[in-house]
Amino acid sequence: MPKILVIEDEEDILNLIKIILEIQGYEVLTACDGFEALERMKENPDLIILDIMMPEIDGWEVLDKIRKNENWKPIPVIVFTANTHIENLKKVHEKRVNDIIVKPFEKKELLEKIEKILNTVV
Ligand SMILES: [Mg+2]
Repeated sequence: MPKILVIEDEEDILNLIKIILEIQGYEVLTACDGFEALERMKENPDLIILDIMMPEIDGWEVLDKIRKNENWKPIPVIVFTANTHIENLKKVHEKRVNDIIVKPFEKKELLEKIEKILNTVV
């Protein structure tokens, strides 16, 4: 099964997503900040779910580091944000994000977006 890295600073949301994905049979890696996220990248996830609003290193910065790394840049990223502002949506396109999920998220939407991306990538 594909390996999914979930990067989210809110522990409750992180655990919830982990459980949802594990029930579907995905292997789940978790990171609660940008530093941990970059460590977990070494375990070669197949897809990344990335929260934008995080202290210290935010999601955009994590994304820049991923996209600048030769091994990591082809990995699909779904951005997770509570912010629906147009600037954020523009950034999503500029920064080659595969999809966006606006919080509060729905389980169905999350799983459908993941499946859609993994099917097209594989
Ligand atoms: Mg957050």
